[in-house]
Amino acid sequence: MTTELHGLTALVTGGASGIGLATAALLAERGADVAVLDLDPSGAPAPLHGFTADVSDDASVRAAVEAAAEALGGIDILVNNAGIGAAGTVEDNPDEQWHRVLDVNVLGIVRTTRAALPFLRASAHAAVVNTCSIAATAGLPQRALYSASKGAVLSLTLAMAADHVREGIRVNCVNPGTVDTPWVGRLLDAAPDPAAERAALNARQPTGRLVTAQEVAAAIAYLASPAAASVTGTALAVDGGMAGLRLRPE
Ligand code: NAD
Repeated sequence: MTTELHGLTALVTGGASGIGLATAALLAERGADVAVLDLDPSGAPAPLHGFTADVSDDASVRAAVEAAAEALGGIDILVNNAGIGAAGTVEDNPDEQWHRVLDVNVLGIVRTTRAALPFLRASAHAAVVNTCSIAATAGLPQRALYSASKGAVLSLTLAMAADHVREGIRVNCVNPGTVDTPWVGRLLDAAPDPAAERAALNARQPTGRLVTAQEVAAAIAYLASPAAASVTGTALAVDGGMAGLRLRPE
């Protein structure tokens, strides 16, 4: 039982930035041959193999997954990580925005998994890890659309785990809390006082700081590894205690 990944191949969507890039880099460091699928894969340096695709476009996903499988000689590990955000209540997001976010965050996983399944079935160590969020179950304010999309990712993870367990394909997800990635950096930069906003955000975390992309990557790498051979249909929170802890006011 090992978290080493020598001899295995991996495909990471949204792998050119943030959690996806940290994951691709860690999987490679553990010995896997890793491809990244992204709108713009230029952020993923060698030895990562970059492939351009939009997870909301089925033809581009199929072409990129097949090209990646050919370059790697198969796909053992699929990390469905590409995702986009949306703020607001049900009154704030027009239908088109609902369709767009669900198309990327939920159907993106469906399309990529569908294209990768023939390769996963051929693997002796097949694992899928989806990047979900504590938003799936936390009841966060001002995140109706994003939360609904991640709730669907959680349900989809469990359903996929059930559908493919007899084929030897494990499916799990990680539920990150607030992670210090370029995504969160962009949100902070848009605030009137980014430094004060960052300090307030840190203070809201039970651990007193944001989660790092490397910490989420470590959880994904574990779930993808032979050490997790009996772990399927589960959600691993990497959130500094955000979802589970109820701290008393100091
Ligand atoms: P990020 O913006 O730093 O990186 C996202 C990557 O996905 C980018 O490289 C982007 O080009 C790519 N991408 C976006 N849309 C795509 C598409 N249609 N097709 C292909 N690639 C696409 O974001 P991040 O913070 O690293 O988030 C990654 C995942 O983690 C997302 O699914 C997000 O919902 C989830 N997440 C993030 C946080 C957080 O606090 N940052 C918390 C919980 C969950």
